[in-house]
Amino acid sequence: MCGGSDNPFKIKAGIRFGREYKTDVLEIVLNDVEGQPLVDSAVAYTLAVALRRAVAESLGVEETELGCDTKMLRDDFYRKARVIQVFDVRSAGYSSLVASELPRLMRIARSKLQCEAGCEGACQMCLLTFDTRYRADELDRQAALNFLSDDWLASLALDDRCQLFGAASSRSSSRSMKRFRES
Ligand SMILES: [Zn+2]
Repeated sequence: MCGGSDNPFKIKAGIRFGREYKTDVLEIVLNDVEGQPLVDSAVAYTLAVALRRAVAESLGVEETELGCDTKMLRDDFYRKARVIQVFDVRSAGYSSLVASELPRLMRIARSKLQCEAGCEGACQMCLLTFDTRYRADELDRQAALNFLSDDWLASLALDDRCQLFGAASSRSSSRSMKRFRES
């Protein structure tokens, strides 16, 4: 018989086992057409989901190999900005492979925001998947589509050699990130 059933000291509530591991993360801070950093959490998370799908498709890997999220930070001008993150779930090094292809990936990402069912926020036909269905209320594909407007995508064009990704992207980076995963 298990001693934990009648000995409260053997039951540890609130403790989770986990391990630290290193993985690749692609982080981008996007500015709107007026040059203001993206701060809306639903737009940022929706774009992260669409970008993850674009990255997975581009690399020919399963979407489940990649995770995505957003977090608030200060940009180079100390303005609040919500960074979009796409990272490897199993430290495979995929995310850093695509940093140089962001303009193309953002166009693919926009196509992922189109929905055959023409839904409002997100549905099974478009963005709801194995993990995003738990955060459905944070998905708003219409608002994300408004952000990725034709003007915005046009500003990604590489005419200005000084701006790697054009005026629309203030910063992108890929780096190694320490993550903590529950096991
Ligand atoms: Zn939909």
